[in-house]
Amino acid sequence: MKPTTLMLASMAAFSLLYAEEKPNIVIIMADDLGWGDISCSGATSLKTPHIDQLAAEGVRFTSGYCSASTCTPTRYSLLTGTYAFRAERTGIAPPNGPAIIKPGTSTFASLVKQSGYQSAVIGKWHLGLGDPKPDWNGELKPGPLEIGFDHCLLLPTTNDRVPQVYVEDHRVRHLDPADPLWVGDKIPSPDHPTGITHRGTLKLDWSQGHNQTIHNGISRIGFYTGGQKARYRDEDLADEWVNQSKKWIASKKNTPFLLFFAAHDIHVPRMPHERFHGKSGLGLRGDSILQFDWCVGELMKSIEEHKLTEKTLFILCSDNGPVLDDGYQDQAVEKLGSHKPSGPYRGGKYSVFEGGTRTPFITRWKGRIAPGVSDQVVCTIDLPASLAHLTGAKIPADACLDSQNILPALLGEKNAKGREVLLQQDNNGKSFGLRAGKWKLVRETNKEKLSHQLFDLEKDHGEKTNVAAQFPAERKRLVALLDSMLKERTRQP
Ligand code: CA
Repeated sequence: MKPTTLMLASMAAFSLLYAEEKPNIVIIMADDLGWGDISCSGATSLKTPHIDQLAAEGVRFTSGYCSASTCTPTRYSLLTGTYAFRAERTGIAPPNGPAIIKPGTSTFASLVKQSGYQSAVIGKWHLGLGDPKPDWNGELKPGPLEIGFDHCLLLPTTNDRVPQVYVEDHRVRHLDPADPLWVGDKIPSPDHPTGITHRGTLKLDWSQGHNQTIHNGISRIGFYTGGQKARYRDEDLADEWVNQSKKWIASKKNTPFLLFFAAHDIHVPRMPHERFHGKSGLGLRGDSILQFDWCVGELMKSIEEHKLTEKTLFILCSDNGPVLDDGYQDQAVEKLGSHKPSGPYRGGKYSVFEGGTRTPFITRWKGRIAPGVSDQVVCTIDLPASLAHLTGAKIPADACLDSQNILPALLGEKNAKGREVLLQQDNNGKSFGLRAGKWKLVRETNKEKLSHQLFDLEKDHGEKTNVAAQFPAERKRLVALLDSMLKERTRQP
Protein backbone atom coordinates (compact mmCIF):
# COMPACT_ATOMS: atom_id res chain seq x y z
CA MET A 1 0.00 0.00 0.00
CA LYS A 2 1.30 3.42 -0.96
CA PRO A 3 1.29 5.84 1.97
CA THR A 4 -1.19 8.68 1.57
CA THR A 5 -0.34 12.30 2.27
CA LEU A 6 -2.37 12.07 5.45
CA MET A 7 -0.44 8.98 6.57
CA LEU A 8 2.88 10.64 5.81
CA ALA A 9 1.81 13.72 7.73
CA SER A 10 0.78 11.65 10.73
CA MET A 11 4.03 9.64 10.58
CA ALA A 12 6.01 12.88 10.50
CA ALA A 13 4.02 14.18 13.46
CA PHE A 14 4.65 10.95 15.33
CA SER A 15 8.37 11.20 14.62
CA LEU A 16 8.40 14.80 15.75
CA LEU A 17 6.68 13.83 18.97
CA TYR A 18 9.41 11.40 19.94
CA ALA A 19 12.19 13.49 18.47
CA GLU A 20 11.19 16.36 20.73
CA GLU A 21 11.46 14.07 23.73
CA LYS A 22 14.82 12.69 22.70
CA PRO A 23 14.70 9.58 24.87
CA ASN A 24 18.00 7.99 25.79
CA ILE A 25 18.66 4.67 24.12
CA VAL A 26 20.44 1.71 25.70
CA ILE A 27 21.04 -1.20 23.33
CA ILE A 28 22.26 -4.31 25.14
CA MET A 29 23.46 -7.05 22.83
CA ALA A 30 24.27 -10.44 24.30
CA ASP A 31 26.65 -12.77 22.53
CA ASP A 32 25.43 -16.26 21.55
CA LEU A 33 22.44 -16.05 23.92
CA GLY A 34 19.65 -18.36 22.78
CA TRP A 35 15.89 -17.86 22.70
CA GLY A 36 15.46 -20.37 25.52
CA ASP A 37 18.34 -19.18 27.70
CA ILE A 38 16.30 -16.72 29.79
CA SER A 39 13.68 -17.55 32.37
CA CYS A 40 11.04 -15.15 30.98
CA SER A 41 11.04 -17.31 27.81
CA GLY A 42 10.47 -20.44 29.82
CA ALA A 43 13.89 -21.57 31.03
CA THR A 44 13.52 -23.26 34.41
CA SER A 45 17.05 -24.57 35.00
CA LEU A 46 18.30 -21.08 35.79
CA LYS A 47 16.86 -17.67 36.65
CA THR A 48 17.49 -14.36 34.91
CA PRO A 49 15.64 -11.98 37.25
CA HIS A 50 16.88 -8.71 35.76
CA ILE A 51 16.10 -9.67 32.17
CA ASP A 52 12.74 -10.94 33.39
CA GLN A 53 12.08 -7.59 35.05
CA LEU A 54 12.96 -5.75 31.85
CA ALA A 55 10.53 -8.01 29.96
CA ALA A 56 7.79 -7.65 32.59
CA GLU A 57 8.03 -3.86 32.34
CA GLY A 58 8.27 -3.83 28.55
CA VAL A 59 7.57 -5.96 25.51
CA ARG A 60 9.03 -9.42 25.04
CA PHE A 61 9.07 -10.42 21.39
CA THR A 62 8.55 -14.10 20.67
CA SER A 63 9.60 -13.49 17.04
CA GLY A 64 12.60 -11.27 17.71
CA TYR A 65 15.55 -11.93 15.43
CA CYS A 66 19.10 -11.02 14.66
CA SER A 67 19.94 -10.98 10.95
CA ALA A 68 22.71 -13.61 10.91
CA SER A 69 23.76 -16.66 12.87
CA THR A 70 27.27 -15.43 13.77
CA CYS A 71 28.74 -12.33 15.44
CA THR A 72 30.30 -10.20 12.73
CA PRO A 73 27.53 -10.20 10.09
CA THR A 74 24.81 -9.50 12.66
CA ARG A 75 26.81 -6.63 14.14
CA TYR A 76 27.53 -5.22 10.68
CA SER A 77 23.81 -5.17 9.90
CA LEU A 78 22.79 -3.93 13.34
CA LEU A 79 24.98 -0.86 12.86
CA THR A 80 24.50 -0.20 9.15
CA GLY A 81 20.97 -1.46 8.51
CA THR A 82 22.25 -3.30 5.44
CA TYR A 83 22.47 -7.06 4.97
CA ALA A 84 25.98 -8.35 5.52
CA PHE A 85 25.86 -10.62 2.47
CA ARG A 86 25.98 -7.51 0.27
CA ALA A 87 29.41 -6.54 1.57
CA GLU A 88 32.84 -8.15 1.44
CA ARG A 89 34.57 -9.70 4.44
CA THR A 90 31.62 -9.69 6.80
CA GLY A 91 32.18 -13.26 8.04
CA ILE A 92 33.83 -13.78 11.47
CA ALA A 93 36.60 -11.16 11.53
CA PRO A 94 40.21 -12.25 12.18
CA PRO A 95 42.45 -10.55 14.82
CA ASN A 96 44.22 -8.34 12.28
CA GLY A 97 41.12 -7.66 10.20
CA PRO A 98 40.60 -4.08 8.96
CA ALA A 99 37.59 -1.90 9.76
CA ILE A 100 34.74 -3.49 7.83
CA ILE A 101 32.44 -0.47 8.03
CA LYS A 102 34.06 2.33 6.10
CA PRO A 103 34.10 5.92 7.39
CA GLY A 104 31.15 7.82 6.01
CA THR A 105 28.81 4.82 6.20
CA SER A 106 25.58 5.66 8.00
CA THR A 107 25.11 3.76 11.26
CA PHE A 108 22.60 4.11 14.05
CA ALA A 109 25.27 6.10 15.87
CA SER A 110 25.83 8.57 13.02
CA LEU A 111 22.08 8.91 12.52
CA VAL A 112 21.25 9.78 16.13
CA LYS A 113 24.23 12.13 16.18
CA GLN A 114 22.31 14.30 13.68
CA SER A 115 19.74 14.77 16.41
CA GLY A 116 22.25 15.84 19.02
CA TYR A 117 22.86 12.48 20.69
CA GLN A 118 26.14 11.47 22.28
CA SER A 119 26.91 7.80 21.75
CA ALA A 120 29.30 5.16 23.02
CA VAL A 121 30.01 1.54 22.29
CA ILE A 122 31.31 -0.37 25.28
CA GLY A 123 32.09 -4.06 24.89
CA LYS A 124 32.88 -6.43 22.08
CA TRP A 125 33.50 -4.91 18.64
CA HIS A 126 34.55 -7.66 16.22
CA LEU A 127 34.09 -5.44 13.17
CA GLY A 128 37.79 -4.82 12.52
CA LEU A 129 39.90 -1.75 13.18
CA GLY A 130 42.28 0.26 11.02
CA ASP A 131 42.99 0.32 7.32
CA PRO A 132 44.48 -1.86 5.88
CA LYS A 133 44.99 -3.43 9.31
CA PRO A 134 45.08 -2.40 12.96
CA ASP A 135 48.14 -0.44 14.13
CA TRP A 136 48.13 -1.87 17.66
CA ASN A 137 50.88 0.45 18.89
CA GLY A 138 49.63 3.58 17.17
CA GLU A 139 46.29 5.07 16.25
CA LEU A 140 43.59 2.46 15.80
CA LYS A 141 41.51 4.12 13.12
CA PRO A 142 39.20 3.96 11.37
CA GLY A 143 36.99 2.40 14.00
CA PRO A 144 33.79 3.27 15.86
CA LEU A 145 34.69 6.96 16.19
CA GLU A 146 34.83 7.28 12.40
CA ILE A 147 31.28 5.94 11.97
CA GLY A 148 29.42 8.08 14.46
CA PHE A 149 30.37 7.04 18.00
CA ASP A 150 31.82 9.64 20.37
CA HIS A 151 33.48 7.12 22.65
CA CYS A 152 34.45 3.46 22.71
CA LEU A 153 35.92 0.97 25.15
CA LEU A 154 36.32 -2.24 23.25
CA LEU A 155 37.43 -5.77 23.22
CA PRO A 156 38.71 -5.38 19.65
CA THR A 157 37.87 -8.79 18.22
CA THR A 158 36.20 -11.55 20.23
CA ASN A 159 37.70 -13.06 23.32
CA ASP A 160 38.59 -16.45 21.85
CA ARG A 161 40.80 -14.53 19.44
CA VAL A 162 43.82 -12.44 20.33
CA PRO A 163 44.63 -9.88 21.78
CA GLN A 164 43.15 -9.49 25.30
CA VAL A 165 43.48 -5.70 25.58
CA TYR A 166 41.03 -2.82 25.78
CA VAL A 167 40.84 -0.32 22.97
CA GLU A 168 39.78 3.05 24.32
CA ASP A 169 38.90 5.50 21.55
CA HIS A 170 41.93 5.29 19.23
CA ARG A 171 44.45 3.55 21.48
CA VAL A 172 45.19 0.34 23.31
CA ARG A 173 44.60 1.37 26.92
CA HIS A 174 47.55 1.22 29.34
CA LEU A 175 49.96 0.15 26.61
CA ASP A 176 53.60 0.63 27.63
CA PRO A 177 55.58 1.79 24.57
CA ALA A 178 58.56 -0.14 25.97
CA ASP A 179 56.54 -3.34 25.62
CA PRO A 180 54.90 -3.10 22.20
CA LEU A 181 52.00 -5.32 21.27
CA TRP A 182 52.51 -7.71 18.36
CA VAL A 183 49.58 -9.64 16.87
CA GLY A 184 49.88 -12.21 14.09
CA ASP A 185 48.70 -15.47 12.64
CA LYS A 186 52.11 -17.22 12.61
CA ILE A 187 53.98 -18.41 15.70
CA PRO A 188 56.44 -15.61 16.64
CA SER A 189 59.22 -17.93 17.86
CA PRO A 190 59.66 -21.71 18.16
CA ASP A 191 59.57 -21.53 21.98
CA HIS A 192 56.34 -19.42 22.13
CA PRO A 193 54.01 -21.30 24.54
CA THR A 194 50.78 -22.48 22.95
CA GLY A 195 47.73 -24.46 23.96
CA ILE A 196 49.38 -27.46 22.33
CA THR A 197 52.86 -27.22 23.86
CA HIS A 198 51.65 -26.11 27.32
CA ARG A 199 48.27 -27.80 27.44
CA GLY A 200 48.86 -29.05 30.99
CA THR A 201 49.09 -25.47 32.32
CA LEU A 202 45.66 -24.37 31.03
CA LYS A 203 42.87 -23.53 33.45
CA LEU A 204 40.31 -23.97 30.65
CA ASP A 205 41.22 -26.65 28.13
CA TRP A 206 40.34 -26.36 24.45
CA SER A 207 38.30 -28.93 22.51
CA GLN A 208 38.96 -27.80 18.94
CA GLY A 209 41.18 -25.05 17.50
CA HIS A 210 41.68 -22.33 20.12
CA ASN A 211 45.14 -23.70 20.91
CA GLN A 212 47.54 -20.91 20.00
CA THR A 213 48.78 -18.07 22.30
CA ILE A 214 47.96 -18.56 25.98
CA HIS A 215 46.77 -15.66 28.13
CA ASN A 216 45.26 -15.98 31.61
CA GLY A 217 45.51 -19.77 31.42
CA ILE A 218 43.36 -19.90 28.27
CA SER A 219 44.69 -20.53 24.77
CA ARG A 220 43.20 -18.55 21.87
CA ILE A 221 43.01 -18.28 18.11
CA GLY A 222 46.00 -16.30 16.84
CA PHE A 223 49.29 -15.23 18.34
CA TYR A 224 50.46 -12.20 20.27
CA THR A 225 53.31 -10.97 22.38
CA GLY A 226 53.95 -7.87 24.50
CA GLY A 227 51.45 -5.38 25.85
CA GLN A 228 51.54 -7.09 29.25
CA LYS A 229 50.34 -4.03 31.20
CA ALA A 230 47.45 -3.56 28.80
CA ARG A 231 46.08 -7.08 29.17
CA TYR A 232 42.95 -7.84 31.14
CA ARG A 233 41.73 -10.88 33.01
CA ASP A 234 38.72 -12.49 31.35
CA GLU A 235 37.02 -12.61 34.75
CA ASP A 236 37.05 -8.79 34.95
CA LEU A 237 35.64 -7.92 31.51
CA ALA A 238 31.98 -7.60 32.48
CA ASP A 239 32.73 -5.63 35.65
CA GLU A 240 34.93 -3.17 33.79
CA TRP A 241 32.40 -2.60 31.04
CA VAL A 242 29.60 -2.11 33.54
CA ASN A 243 31.70 0.33 35.60
CA GLN A 244 32.75 2.32 32.57
CA SER A 245 29.18 2.35 31.25
CA LYS A 246 27.97 3.74 34.56
CA LYS A 247 30.61 6.47 34.45
CA TRP A 248 29.75 7.33 30.87
CA ILE A 249 26.01 7.45 31.61
CA ALA A 250 26.70 9.74 34.59
CA SER A 251 28.73 12.07 32.38
CA LYS A 252 25.99 12.26 29.74
CA LYS A 253 22.90 12.33 31.92
CA ASN A 254 22.02 15.86 30.85
CA THR A 255 22.26 15.24 27.11
CA PRO A 256 20.39 12.65 25.06
CA PHE A 257 22.61 9.60 24.72
CA LEU A 258 22.82 6.22 23.09
CA LEU A 259 24.82 3.46 24.78
CA PHE A 260 25.58 0.30 22.83
CA PHE A 261 26.56 -2.22 25.50
CA ALA A 262 27.98 -5.20 23.62
CA ALA A 263 28.47 -7.91 26.21
CA HIS A 264 30.87 -10.76 25.62
CA ASP A 265 28.70 -13.15 27.61
CA ILE A 266 27.99 -15.91 26.78
CA HIS A 267 30.58 -16.40 24.02
CA VAL A 268 33.60 -18.66 24.56
CA PRO A 269 35.90 -18.73 26.40
CA ARG A 270 33.27 -18.64 29.13
CA MET A 271 35.15 -17.28 32.10
CA PRO A 272 32.85 -15.02 34.13
CA HIS A 273 33.94 -13.42 37.39
CA GLU A 274 34.68 -15.94 40.13
CA ARG A 275 31.59 -14.83 42.08
CA PHE A 276 29.40 -16.44 39.41
CA HIS A 277 31.30 -19.74 39.22
CA GLY A 278 29.13 -22.71 40.11
CA LYS A 279 26.06 -20.53 40.68
CA SER A 280 23.89 -21.72 37.80
CA GLY A 281 24.40 -25.45 38.12
CA LEU A 282 24.82 -25.52 34.33
CA GLY A 283 28.58 -24.98 34.28
CA LEU A 284 30.38 -21.91 32.99
CA ARG A 285 27.88 -21.37 30.17
CA GLY A 286 25.04 -20.98 32.66
CA ASP A 287 27.27 -18.94 34.98
CA SER A 288 27.95 -16.56 32.08
CA ILE A 289 24.20 -16.15 31.57
CA LEU A 290 23.94 -15.12 35.23
CA GLN A 291 26.74 -12.62 34.71
CA PHE A 292 25.00 -11.18 31.66
CA ASP A 293 21.78 -10.90 33.63
CA TRP A 294 23.71 -9.08 36.36
CA CYS A 295 25.05 -6.60 33.76
CA VAL A 296 21.48 -5.90 32.60
CA GLY A 297 20.44 -5.26 36.19
CA GLU A 298 23.35 -2.90 36.81
CA LEU A 299 22.56 -0.84 33.71
CA MET A 300 18.90 -0.61 34.70
CA LYS A 301 19.98 0.46 38.18
CA SER A 302 22.30 3.11 36.79
CA ILE A 303 19.51 4.59 34.66
CA GLU A 304 17.19 4.52 37.66
CA GLU A 305 19.76 6.25 39.90
CA HIS A 306 19.82 9.18 37.49
CA LYS A 307 16.00 9.19 37.39
CA LEU A 308 16.10 8.48 33.67
CA THR A 309 13.97 5.32 33.60
CA GLU A 310 11.02 7.10 32.00
CA LYS A 311 13.31 8.85 29.54
CA THR A 312 15.18 5.77 28.37
CA LEU A 313 14.38 3.12 25.79
CA PHE A 314 16.11 -0.19 26.50
CA ILE A 315 16.53 -2.71 23.71
CA LEU A 316 17.91 -6.11 24.64
CA CYS A 317 18.91 -8.56 21.90
CA SER A 318 21.47 -11.22 20.98
CA ASP A 319 23.85 -11.46 18.02
CA ASN A 320 23.07 -15.09 17.15
CA GLY A 321 21.63 -18.25 18.58
CA PRO A 322 23.21 -20.57 21.12
CA VAL A 323 26.07 -23.05 20.88
CA LEU A 324 27.36 -25.49 23.48
CA ASP A 325 30.88 -26.73 22.66
CA ASP A 326 32.37 -23.86 20.67
CA GLY A 327 36.03 -24.78 21.13
CA TYR A 328 36.59 -25.15 24.88
CA GLN A 329 35.90 -27.94 27.37
CA ASP A 330 33.71 -25.91 29.68
CA GLN A 331 31.15 -28.67 30.36
CA ALA A 332 28.36 -26.83 28.53
CA VAL A 333 27.26 -30.17 27.09
CA GLU A 334 27.77 -32.31 30.18
CA LYS A 335 25.91 -30.00 32.55
CA LEU A 336 23.07 -29.01 30.23
CA GLY A 337 20.47 -31.32 31.78
CA SER A 338 16.98 -30.46 30.52
CA HIS A 339 17.85 -26.84 29.62
CA LYS A 340 16.96 -25.96 26.01
CA PRO A 341 19.10 -23.03 24.81
CA SER A 342 17.14 -22.63 21.55
CA GLY A 343 13.77 -23.17 23.22
CA PRO A 344 11.51 -25.07 20.84
CA TYR A 345 13.49 -24.03 17.76
CA ARG A 346 15.85 -26.01 15.55
CA GLY A 347 19.56 -25.29 15.26
CA GLY A 348 21.62 -22.56 16.84
CA LYS A 349 24.73 -20.52 16.09
CA TYR A 350 25.93 -20.97 12.45
CA SER A 351 22.47 -22.19 11.33
CA VAL A 352 19.72 -20.56 9.28
CA PHE A 353 17.08 -22.63 11.02
CA GLU A 354 15.14 -20.58 13.55
CA GLY A 355 17.41 -21.34 16.51
CA GLY A 356 20.27 -19.57 14.72
CA THR A 357 18.62 -16.17 14.62
CA ARG A 358 15.38 -16.18 16.62
CA THR A 359 16.78 -14.87 19.89
CA PRO A 360 15.85 -12.88 23.00
CA PHE A 361 14.42 -9.47 22.08
CA ILE A 362 12.95 -7.09 24.66
CA THR A 363 12.13 -3.39 24.63
CA ARG A 364 11.32 -1.28 27.67
CA TRP A 365 10.44 2.38 28.01
CA LYS A 366 8.62 2.85 31.25
CA GLY A 367 5.59 5.06 30.99
CA ARG A 368 5.56 4.77 27.16
CA ILE A 369 5.55 1.08 26.37
CA ALA A 370 2.58 -0.89 27.62
CA PRO A 371 3.97 -4.13 29.07
CA GLY A 372 3.15 -7.29 27.16
CA VAL A 373 4.28 -10.03 24.83
CA SER A 374 4.33 -9.51 21.06
CA ASP A 375 4.48 -12.05 18.24
CA GLN A 376 5.38 -9.41 15.64
CA VAL A 377 8.56 -10.09 13.65
CA VAL A 378 11.28 -7.64 14.63
CA CYS A 379 14.98 -7.76 13.80
CA THR A 380 18.21 -6.11 14.91
CA ILE A 381 18.76 -4.87 11.33
CA ASP A 382 15.74 -2.59 11.79
CA LEU A 383 17.26 -0.55 14.59
CA PRO A 384 18.95 2.09 12.37
CA ALA A 385 15.71 3.03 10.55
CA SER A 386 13.60 2.74 13.68
CA LEU A 387 15.97 4.77 15.85
CA ALA A 388 16.31 7.39 13.10
CA HIS A 389 12.54 7.72 13.19
CA LEU A 390 12.52 7.85 16.97
CA THR A 391 15.09 10.64 17.12
CA GLY A 392 13.99 12.59 14.06
CA ALA A 393 17.12 11.81 12.02
CA LYS A 394 17.08 11.62 8.25
CA ILE A 395 18.53 8.55 6.52
CA PRO A 396 20.54 9.36 3.38
CA ALA A 397 19.06 7.81 0.24
CA ASP A 398 21.88 5.34 -0.28
CA ALA A 399 22.13 4.16 3.33
CA CYS A 400 20.57 1.49 5.56
CA LEU A 401 19.30 -0.44 2.54
CA ASP A 402 17.52 -3.22 4.40
CA SER A 403 16.47 -1.50 7.61
CA GLN A 404 12.74 -1.00 8.10
CA ASN A 405 11.13 1.49 10.40
CA ILE A 406 9.20 -0.78 12.75
CA LEU A 407 9.25 1.64 15.68
CA PRO A 408 5.53 1.31 16.50
CA ALA A 409 5.96 -2.48 16.76
CA LEU A 410 9.11 -2.07 18.86
CA LEU A 411 7.17 0.19 21.19
CA GLY A 412 4.42 -2.42 21.43
CA GLU A 413 1.76 -0.11 20.00
CA LYS A 414 -1.65 -1.64 19.45
CA ASN A 415 -2.10 -3.20 16.01
CA ALA A 416 1.42 -2.15 14.98
CA LYS A 417 3.00 -4.51 12.48
CA GLY A 418 6.52 -5.83 12.41
CA ARG A 419 8.23 -7.21 9.33
CA GLU A 420 6.28 -9.10 6.69
CA VAL A 421 9.40 -10.70 5.27
CA LEU A 422 12.69 -11.40 7.04
CA LEU A 423 15.89 -12.71 5.54
CA GLN A 424 18.31 -14.63 7.78
CA GLN A 425 21.85 -15.50 6.71
CA ASP A 426 24.70 -17.71 7.90
CA ASN A 427 28.26 -16.56 8.56
CA ASN A 428 29.42 -16.30 4.96
CA GLY A 429 26.13 -15.54 3.25
CA LYS A 430 25.95 -18.99 1.63
CA SER A 431 22.80 -20.30 3.30
CA PHE A 432 19.66 -18.29 3.93
CA GLY A 433 16.36 -18.47 5.72
CA LEU A 434 13.35 -16.49 4.59
CA ARG A 435 10.49 -16.01 6.99
CA ALA A 436 7.25 -14.71 5.47
CA GLY A 437 4.28 -14.92 7.80
CA LYS A 438 3.94 -18.50 8.95
CA TRP A 439 6.21 -19.81 6.19
CA LYS A 440 9.93 -20.40 6.43
CA LEU A 441 12.05 -21.20 3.41
CA VAL A 442 15.51 -22.62 4.10
CA ARG A 443 18.00 -22.34 1.27
CA GLU A 444 21.20 -24.24 1.94
CA THR A 445 24.32 -24.65 -0.12
CA ASN A 446 26.27 -27.78 0.74
CA LYS A 447 29.28 -28.64 -1.39
CA GLU A 448 27.97 -26.32 -4.11
CA LYS A 449 24.62 -28.18 -4.11
CA LEU A 450 21.63 -25.95 -3.60
CA SER A 451 18.54 -27.18 -1.74
CA HIS A 452 15.30 -25.60 -0.59
CA GLN A 453 13.05 -26.72 2.25
CA LEU A 454 9.74 -25.24 3.32
CA PHE A 455 8.33 -25.26 6.85
CA ASP A 456 5.05 -24.16 8.37
CA LEU A 457 6.18 -22.42 11.56
CA GLU A 458 2.65 -22.22 12.92
CA LYS A 459 2.34 -26.01 13.05
CA ASP A 460 6.00 -26.92 13.20
CA HIS A 461 8.11 -24.74 15.52
CA GLY A 462 11.00 -27.16 15.28
CA GLU A 463 11.23 -27.11 11.44
CA LYS A 464 11.04 -30.89 11.43
CA THR A 465 8.77 -31.51 8.44
CA ASN A 466 9.68 -30.19 5.02
CA VAL A 467 6.36 -29.44 3.31
CA ALA A 468 7.76 -28.15 0.02
CA ALA A 469 6.13 -31.01 -1.92
CA GLN A 470 2.69 -30.33 -0.39
CA PHE A 471 2.81 -26.58 -1.07
CA PRO A 472 4.56 -26.15 -4.44
CA ALA A 473 3.02 -22.72 -5.07
CA GLU A 474 4.30 -21.34 -1.76
CA ARG A 475 7.71 -22.85 -2.39
CA LYS A 476 7.85 -21.29 -5.86
CA ARG A 477 6.72 -17.90 -4.61
CA LEU A 478 9.25 -17.81 -1.77
CA VAL A 479 12.14 -19.16 -3.86
CA ALA A 480 11.45 -16.39 -6.40
CA LEU A 481 11.25 -13.78 -3.65
CA LEU A 482 14.50 -14.91 -2.04
CA ASP A 483 16.26 -15.10 -5.42
CA SER A 484 15.19 -11.55 -6.21
CA MET A 485 16.59 -10.38 -2.86
CA LEU A 486 19.86 -12.20 -3.42
CA LYS A 487 20.22 -10.79 -6.95
CA GLU A 488 20.66 -7.43 -5.31
CA ARG A 489 23.69 -8.65 -3.42
CA THR A 490 26.05 -6.35 -5.23
CA ARG A 491 24.02 -3.29 -4.30
CA GLN A 492 25.94 -1.62 -1.52
CA PRO A 493 25.56 1.48 0.58
CA1 CA B 1 27.96 -14.24 18.69
